[in-house]
Amino acid sequence: MSVPTVAVVGAGVAGAMAAYRLKAAGLKPLVFEAGDYIGGRARTLRKSGFIFDTGAVGLLGSYNRTRDVAREIGMGSQFLTIKPVGAIPRDGVLRYLDMARPIRSFLSSELFSVRSKFKMLKMVRDVVKLRNNLDYEQIDALIPHDVESVEEYSLRELNEEIYEYLTGTLTRGAWLAAADQASVIQFFWTAKNFTPHMYSLMGGMSSLPETLLKGTEVLLNTHVVDVHEGKQGVSVTYVNQSGETTRPFEACVIATEPKPATKIFPQMIEGQKTYLNTIEYSRSVNVHFGLSAKPDHPEMYIMMPKRECPDITTVFLDHLKAPDRAPPGKGMISVFLRSDWCDERFDTEDNVVLKEVIAKLRPFFGDISSSVEESMVQRWDYCALKVKPGNARLMSEYNRAIDPQARVQIAGDFAPFSSVNTAVVSGERAAKRVVEKLHA
Ligand SMILES: Cc1cc2nc3c(=O)[nH]c(=O)nc-3n(C[C@H](O)[C@H](O)[C@H](O)COP(=O)(O)OP(=O)(O)OC[C@H]3O[C@@H](n4cnc5c(N)ncnc54)[C@H](O)[C@@H]3O)c2cc1C
Repeated sequence: MSVPTVAVVGAGVAGAMAAYRLKAAGLKPLVFEAGDYIGGRARTLRKSGFIFDTGAVGLLGSYNRTRDVAREIGMGSQFLTIKPVGAIPRDGVLRYLDMARPIRSFLSSELFSVRSKFKMLKMVRDVVKLRNNLDYEQIDALIPHDVESVEEYSLRELNEEIYEYLTGTLTRGAWLAAADQASVIQFFWTAKNFTPHMYSLMGGMSSLPETLLKGTEVLLNTHVVDVHEGKQGVSVTYVNQSGETTRPFEACVIATEPKPATKIFPQMIEGQKTYLNTIEYSRSVNVHFGLSAKPDHPEMYIMMPKRECPDITTVFLDHLKAPDRAPPGKGMISVFLRSDWCDERFDTEDNVVLKEVIAKLRPFFGDISSSVEESMVQRWDYCALKVKPGNARLMSEYNRAIDPQARVQIAGDFAPFSSVNTAVVSGERAAKRVVEKLHA
């Protein structure tokens, strides 16, 4: 008897994860990828000895599913656990935070007045109260809390100082999201996920999907244009340099960004289609510098309060993330900017963007122009889901609409919050549904 073949559309983390599980279950995945590389938004580019992560940049310490998968596929020694120092500037001065002790660090920091520190205990209480619901299983339990923005919650329950230098800054810093529009559940999720350690991957973020797909057939530069589900199977139509081809499969996992998924699969269940067509993603124009020397900074990342630097949300000092990112003695900085700024600069020439960003870094790093050896500007149409108040209900409806018996299953990073870990979890779940269907 021949092994059932399953099409997987998209070679990002979700698609790679799904393909790995399908193969492990004895099925035969064939992966279609429109781009010319594996990884999607977990993208790694190498230049002059530097290893640039131009999509996903770091892994929060709660991303244990990703850690477990990395260990399972033999990447345990590449998967690093780090205890970083972070920084938030106030009045132009960087205030360091020992993230191995986050609560103690924030409470003892000069970032906040004594009054604010007392108020912050209230916020800790709210996070602790919700913490068991802040996972992939309990979206329904978040609905009653998903009624206001981070700004509204902060100004109602806390104060302006905490909003400016903590809740708003963390929301901007972690998701490039505008805290006056982001749901408070996004802040709670972020706070819960700020554990005393973070994870990082030697070899770059793309090494995870690349390893997952070792030994699996992947057709790069191949654009899927239609997926059709029938009673006995699925037909997939794709276009590549050989022209247009339609092939039959037993089943299919669509693991593209949300809108392309609805386009290539018009039969998608209404509840799922509505969600994927309703949600919005931020765009990103992120900038990366390979430097001739390490900046004299101990912090692995800076989260920028809007008041201190309106356009930059986060700076990552990648050479502190993993020892292979820059050649010995050299440094690397990645800069992420607020989503509206990125929208406005999406079509701006690289050299103009680079100049602008270097000027914005000056108050914190001095003039880095003379030490820049390599630079990159990366543009993403889909960066992270904009989680607005009310999204939890939509996510819940989306989850309820999933038909576990369908031959076409959807995976991606669109619920509850965009991350590598979400893509891992979603890819695994989609594959499990297909395996159960085909093995039934
Ligand atoms: C700038 C930036 C920074 C980020 N930082 C972090 C971070 O620090 N930590 C973190 O955990 N997450 C981060 N993320 C989010 C994380 O990268 C994503 O959530 C995750 O990688 C999404 O994986 P995915 O497989 O769902 O989607 P994608 O990686 O987008 O994969 C979808 C794939 O489908 C392909 N595709 C689309 N249409 C078709 C088609 N018709 N036919 C064939 N192929 C198709 C695309 O080319 C793409 O490769 C960041 C994202 C960005 C952009």
